[in-house]
Amino acid sequence: MFKKILIANRGEIAVRIIRTCRELRIPTVAVYSQADRDCLHVRLADEAVCIGPPPNKDSYLNIPNLMQAALNTGADAVHPGYGNLSEVAAFAENCEACSIKFIGPSADTIRRMQDKAAARRTMREAGIPVIPGSDGVVEGEQDAVRTAESLGYPILIKAAMGGGGRGIRVAHNEDDLTRSLRIAQSEAQAAFGRRDVYLEKYVEEPRHVEFQIVADEHGEVVHLGERECSIQTGKHQKLVEESPCVALGRRLRHQMGETAVRAARAVSYVNAGTVEFMVDREDRFHFLEMNTRIQVEHPVTEMVTGRDLVREQIRISYGHKLGVHQRDVKSNGHAIECRITAEDPANHFLASSGTVRALHLPGGPGIRVDTHLYPGYTVPPFYDALLAKLIAWAPTRAEAIVRAERGLRELQIDGLKTTIPLHLEVLANAYFRRGEIATNFLQRRMGLG
Ligand code: ADP
Ligand code: ADP
Ligand code: MG
Repeated sequence: MFKKILIANRGEIAVRIIRTCRELRIPTVAVYSQADRDCLHVRLADEAVCIGPPPNKDSYLNIPNLMQAALNTGADAVHPGYGNLSEVAAFAENCEACSIKFIGPSADTIRRMQDKAAARRTMREAGIPVIPGSDGVVEGEQDAVRTAESLGYPILIKAAMGGGGRGIRVAHNEDDLTRSLRIAQSEAQAAFGRRDVYLEKYVEEPRHVEFQIVADEHGEVVHLGERECSIQTGKHQKLVEESPCVALGRRLRHQMGETAVRAARAVSYVNAGTVEFMVDREDRFHFLEMNTRIQVEHPVTEMVTGRDLVREQIRISYGHKLGVHQRDVKSNGHAIECRITAEDPANHFLASSGTVRALHLPGGPGIRVDTHLYPGYTVPPFYDALLAKLIAWAPTRAEAIVRAERGLRELQIDGLKTTIPLHLEVLANAYFRRGEIATNFLQRRMGLG
């Protein structure tokens, strides 16, 4: 097994990865920015290395410093977590060049999927249904107008290198489109370093349903079922995720799972990954994108399948066989995750930072909390707003909702504005309880923008 794993990330996901490493008896190296000296992952790891000043680009995105930290500490593998460098092919390449194992797919696979316009083409060529849209990147205005006309409005202009819900704009007509195209391109350049954008038909009231894939180096590809991620903020940030998705019948689940496996095979995928789909009101499903990393919401899959996905990632990277076939994969019960962020839902999700004055984490049957918070910890203003993930498992969805509510009521984070009140409202909502949800749920059913 690996001798030492460096975790190229921070916060709850770094803590999550350290926990599995502990169980596997693999020593860990944490990295931290100058703003993160007191972060929990630094305390929990066996070693810790400062990799630069607070801004992400100077620390958690600083490839030379990370490589240096890995080499200096003698780490033979790097886990990138999610966000940060997890989907940056150059980082995986650097690791490969230094004979340090990157815990994720190959640099080549990352590159092919990171450009979402190119990924659409790859998938279409592999016979995977993709959302109708432009064939690759749109260049000039004429090109865009022609494509949009054939698709019909509304359409979305999406940054090819976008992620985290950013770089998506809607256009309702030709005026909108011509006005927005240049802006979208320059925003994409500023945010993602490339101006490439593509067009996609706007799917009305879709569900976001994604499939978890695990694939080994020996040709085995298996899916671990789906996650329903339709409850999102107006900025396409996932808020509540669950598994299974109540809207999938046996047949549809089987078809989508098989399609996700075919998508992974089309790019010779190795490691854990997620194939995202949009499901429309007529139950048609189309490929949205593939995330070549561990996902924020991976715990719901862990709760219903009983598998540790980080452990699977590490074992696969070491060259082990999955040791599981599709027919062995069983899903048991229902899991719901609430993403608790340092944002004020009553004030346009305004970010808050500050010190956690008091903290009480819920426990008891079927409750899991993944967090890097502790009493007295000061949340720095530089990073992702995620504070904690509360995951509830129960035999049925109705019971999982009750448990999640109980956990949210027990959870106490004093000193910061959080999304806990919003989560309680979502869980109490009658449409949510009936499973009648789509990506516009917060706007349509709760009157939130
Ligand atoms: P998931 O699908 O795992 O829920 P998200 O889309 O919420 O993932 O992204 C996970 C994390 O990665 C978030 O912190 C998000 O802000 C960040 N992220 C993902 N892609 C990008 C990107 N291209 N640029 C900047 N941040 C990103
Ligand atoms: P990211 O890379 O930021 O995760 P995605 O392409 O996965 O971006 O889309 C994020 C979210 O944006 C989806 O979950 C969905 O809510 C919305 N979305 C994206 N594309 C479409 C589409 N063609 N029609 C309707 N909604 C969409
Ligand atoms: Mg996505």
